Parts: sequence; structure tokens; C-alpha cells
Amino acid sequence: MANARYLSLSGGFFISRRQRPAPEAPRAAGTMQQKGSDGMARRRRGFDTLAIHGGGGHDLLTGACLPPIYQTAAFVLKGADHAARAFAAEEPAYIYSRLGNPTNAAFEERLSRLEGGEAALATASGMAAVSITLLHLLRSGDEVVAGAQLFGSTFHLLKEIFSRYGITARFVDPGDIPAWEGAITPRTRALFVETPSNPGLRWADIPALGALAQQAEIPLVVDNTLNTPYLLRPLEHGASVVVHSATKFLAGHGAAIAGAVVGSADFIISLRRGLYQDLGPALSPQTAYLLLLGLETLGLRMQRHSANALAVARYLAEHPAVDWVAYPGLERDPYHALAARLLDRGFGGLVSFAPKGGEGVARRVIDGVRIFKVAANIGDSRSLVIHPYTTTHAQLTPEERQTAGVGPTLIRLSVGLENEEDLLDDLDRALAAAQGGA
Ligand SMILES: *Cc1c(COP(=O)(O)O)cnc(C)c1O
Repeated sequence: MANARYLSLSGGFFISRRQRPAPEAPRAAGTMQQKGSDGMARRRRGFDTLAIHGGGGHDLLTGACLPPIYQTAAFVLKGADHAARAFAAEEPAYIYSRLGNPTNAAFEERLSRLEGGEAALATASGMAAVSITLLHLLRSGDEVVAGAQLFGSTFHLLKEIFSRYGITARFVDPGDIPAWEGAITPRTRALFVETPSNPGLRWADIPALGALAQQAEIPLVVDNTLNTPYLLRPLEHGASVVVHSATKFLAGHGAAIAGAVVGSADFIISLRRGLYQDLGPALSPQTAYLLLLGLETLGLRMQRHSANALAVARYLAEHPAVDWVAYPGLERDPYHALAARLLDRGFGGLVSFAPKGGEGVARRVIDGVRIFKVAANIGDSRSLVIHPYTTTHAQLTPEERQTAGVGPTLIRLSVGLENEEDLLDDLDRALAAAQGGA
């Protein structure tokens, strides 16, 4: 492989349909057939099988069932020639764990299979995945068009940090396709969307955005943190690159900070040998091991998160002390039809709602819950709650929070894996106490 290929800066981000290895088609799980190299029809492996075995099973050296944690900074090369070839990327070799590591590679391979990508890159955090992906695509003078409803740090990165380097972000209503089209200029080098948005839970039409991106020959980058590939695989709907905060549902245990980028092999190689190598946001192999443990149960967990969240959303929607509830699984949610078209197996674990009576009541609800813990995380097995207006999105101006769909009464719930009845009891008590104290 030529060195020049590693240094190609933004080319090669489109995954060809022919090359992309698809996991099973969700609706046809267990029945999909594909032709093997011998021409025989073969059933594709299901999501849960890939989540456990994808990217190689046991350790071939020792037979260990679980992937070993290769806790090493460097790897011994076979001599001067081998070292020179490895550095020139003429021969595949592990060199130094800032560039790549076998435990990280096992996680990357498994996630890339689950997302239907060609390759993946494990990063130290979700923000590292977002920032190196966009910086890789953008130069000074370039523009990115992004959905206005974004995770707090992502919004700040695009608006405040990028502008210091001459990169302009244009924000549009994520659901408004003509607005996306109108915001694209000859300087636009990337489209970025988070869907559903955290914490507003607003959806963007990914297939329509993907078609727009392909027509304009601009890569569409999707933050798929809230769905995970169990619920949605954006690469199958026209996205070029998927980014994740693996801290959340992919890990599932709330034990580590991590991120990932998934895309074409060319894109991932040039990113690895570019900003990843030089900015240094490598993932620790210990954390990659924790992520591999988490991935094994991703399908089961997303089913339970979705079932519990739907029960919580339905309960809140009927509650007299609740002003409004956002959850795409509710039939009366404005994003229900779109989400139902894109998702097959559930609507995810986040629910946002506002109690009647203003910010004071909202904050008392948060102080009143016992099982839900007040924490700045989502996707944990534990149920978590937060008041985004004064925490995760506090660095935004009131107008920006308005655009981001984060009002002073909004409460974000990350519904965990506990028993449904206990979660409903907890909310019931907290809502009653908060109204009583008004
Ligand atoms: C948490 C989160 C991020 C940032 O990920 P970190 O792992 O905290 O760096 C980005 N996007 C979304 C949607 C998130 O929820």
C-alpha cells in the first residue's frame, strides 16, 4: 500500500455499495440469503451473533475466549528493514499504540461490521471522534452545514472553536431538507447531523439528506450515538461517515469514556495516518476491552432500553402534571412517522419531558427521584436524569438553547435497564412531591 494513499486528505469517503459488507437486513432477520464465493446461497449472520463474534472470536495464540488486553505502548519489529517497511505502510504491522493496537482493532472490526462500514477507528472520546472527523474534512475557508439541534460540546466546537480556524458552520433545522440545500455553498465540505438530537429528540430524514449529500458530492457525517447500529445504520441510508460516543449505549455500563468513527477503508486509513496520528486521541486498550464486553449485549440492552423508555413516555404523556413529552415511539410525537420508517426494533432509551409549572418544578422533580441518578451521561444500565438548560447546554446563549430545543423546563431521562414498575413509581413520587412544593 503506497504511503501517498495514507496521506490523501479527504478523498475516498464514499463507500461503494458493492464493497460494503451488510449484516442482516433487520426486517428479514433469519431469512436473508446471500451468495457465497462458491455461488451457494448463505444466510447472513444476525446482529446479535455479530455483536458477540464479529471481527474474530477467541485469541488464536492462547485460546482465550475473550480478547486479550494488549497493554503496550510499542510493538517489537523484526529488524531495520521491517521497521522501515512498517513505517512506510508497505507492510501491515502494529508499530505504536497511538496509531493502532490489537485490542482496539478487535473493537474497531466488530463495530464496523455492526454499522455496515468497511473500517472503524477507536478514539479516546465521542468528542474526539466528532472533532477529528470534521477537521479532517475541513480547511480554513471551508464551511460545514449542520443540524441546529446538537449535543452541547458539538455545537460549541462547530460554532466557537472552528471559527478560530476560519471554518464556518451554518446551522439549519435538521428536518428541513430545502434549508440544508439552501445552506450548501461552493465552500461546503461536510454535512453533519445528529439524529435524534440530544436532548430535544428531533429527527432528520437521513435518506433524504443522504441523497442530497451524494448529489452534491459532499460527505454526510451522522452522529449515531442515540440509535446505535442496532436501531439504525446510517451508512445504509446514504451517510458516508458515522461517529459515536461509545461512552453511551455501545459500552452500556457507564464505565469508560470512548468514541469511534466508521466509514470507508480509504477514509479511515487517511484519518488514522493523519489527524489521529498527529493530534493523538488514541483509545486505551483497557477501554477497548470494556467496549467489546459492552457490545456483546448491545441488542438485548437496546430492546430493554426501548421498552422501558416507551413505558415511561406513555406514563408521562397521561400524567396530569406533565406539560409535554418528546419520544419518537409515541404515536402522537411529530417525529413518529419518520422514526418508524427508519427504525425497526425500538425507539431508543432517551425521553425528554417538561412538567407543568416552570423551571423550579422541573428542578424539584430532578431532586425528588431516587432510582434515576442525576448524572451527565446517557446509555448507562442505570437510569439517569439531568436538567440540560443549566448543565450540558449551559454554555449556549438562551437563543442558541432555544434553537437547540433546550428550554428551561426540559428534563432529560436516560431510561435504564431496571424494572419498569420501579421507574414509574420513582417518577410518580417525584412529580407529586414537586407539584406539592410549588
Ligand atoms: C455524549 C455525546 C457526545 C460526546 O461524547 P463523549 O464520549 O462524551 O466525548 C457526542 N454526541 C452525542 C450525541 C452524545 O450524546
